[in-house]
Amino acid sequence: MTLTQRDAESIWHPYTQQLNARPPLPVLSGKGAYLYDEEGCRYIDAVSSWWVTLHGHSHPYIVERVTAQLQQLDQVIFAGFTHEPAIALAENLLAILPEGQKKVFYTDNGSTAVEVALKMCVQYWFNKGKSRKKVLAFNNGYHGDTFGAMSVSGRSAWTAPFDNLLFEVIFIDTPTEENLPVLKEIISVHAAELACFVYEPLVQGSAGMLMYEAPALDQLMAHCLEEGVLMIQDEVFTGFGRTGKNFAADHLKTQPDVMCFSKGLTGGTMPLGVTTCTEDIYNAFLSEDKLKTLFHGHSFTANPLACTAALASIELLLQHEAQDNIRRICNRHAEFSLKICGHQKVAAVRQTGTIIAIEWQTESGTSYFSKLRNLLYDYFMDKGILMRPLGNVIYILPPYCISDEDLKKIYQEIQNALEIF
Ligand SMILES: *Cc1c(COP(=O)(O)O)cnc(C)c1O
Repeated sequence: MTLTQRDAESIWHPYTQQLNARPPLPVLSGKGAYLYDEEGCRYIDAVSSWWVTLHGHSHPYIVERVTAQLQQLDQVIFAGFTHEPAIALAENLLAILPEGQKKVFYTDNGSTAVEVALKMCVQYWFNKGKSRKKVLAFNNGYHGDTFGAMSVSGRSAWTAPFDNLLFEVIFIDTPTEENLPVLKEIISVHAAELACFVYEPLVQGSAGMLMYEAPALDQLMAHCLEEGVLMIQDEVFTGFGRTGKNFAADHLKTQPDVMCFSKGLTGGTMPLGVTTCTEDIYNAFLSEDKLKTLFHGHSFTANPLACTAALASIELLLQHEAQDNIRRICNRHAEFSLKICGHQKVAAVRQTGTIIAIEWQTESGTSYFSKLRNLLYDYFMDKGILMRPLGNVIYILPPYCISDEDLKKIYQEIQNALEIF
């Protein structure tokens, strides 16, 4: 049996209608910006394998560091024990985050990083004897697939079967100069019952790479600060260079209380989640009263291999090579954006840093279930490019090591596709 046949016998894939999905492609290896299948066909990984790969696949430095760590310590319980990779990663991460972030809590993916952030904020008020339990979030937001993360995500086809089980959230639009007064008013009206505000800064990834401006978010955050509403900045996607700066926070003046990271955290090599918080949040859990403990933890919390991968990846990110590459991708995207923005099939082009999204003009409008999606997916796969359109929105967010030549090839194929579909 082929791998594809064996896969069909035993595997249920994520975000996949198994009835009629294109059979999954067995991948044999990955190197740099490329993935290779069994026949040796090469694919440019234009979406960083679901937004995680930063420096390219199987980066030799990360491989070397993780290999050495695996020989020394594979895993250890993280309650009552600690280890150097977890400590060094916390130190190095806090050193490049906004000043207010003082403590690191480990989990193993983006959804759990958000769950912990929500628990920190809700229990913060519980520990202080105040009843502030509601959450504020953006329409169209995405924060993960576990129940808490789903609750604070925009209601959609993804959440429909569970809607009556999701906790109540107050949803507002992303901010613009025009709607800010209305949004601030909503926050003020509900402030006394709001535990926190959770948001994707600058880019709403899963919603179709919807983007909004930093100054507007800054004003909204300043208002939350005034009203005492805790802020959870979900940088699971935007962290580690995606927006052109190390963090979306680096585009903002106001600082959040809690931050979430995963995806690019380990350079895309291993699962790891991080929730960071301020001293104030941390202190609210210090008590002789055992009830005030944060009762949360996962079996693989702070796995030493994952922490080591993250340490190596952050080291690479801060070096000139990666920073130059990030700037280069930003510039190439901007040039391409100018080139195609006037095309009649292009409803919109959006760019924030290394992320560029192109919204296809369709008769039925924007939809995650657009028929165009599969046509475009297949078209690019046949050209040796892994793209994963969100409905009629295609986007490129490549590993930073991608060459100019490969970027050009992707841009050219998009232009070709615009003439076909
Ligand atoms: C992907 C994503 C998550 C969820 O992360 P997982 O590791 O897939 O659970 C949370 N928040 C944002 C903004 C994301 O893009």
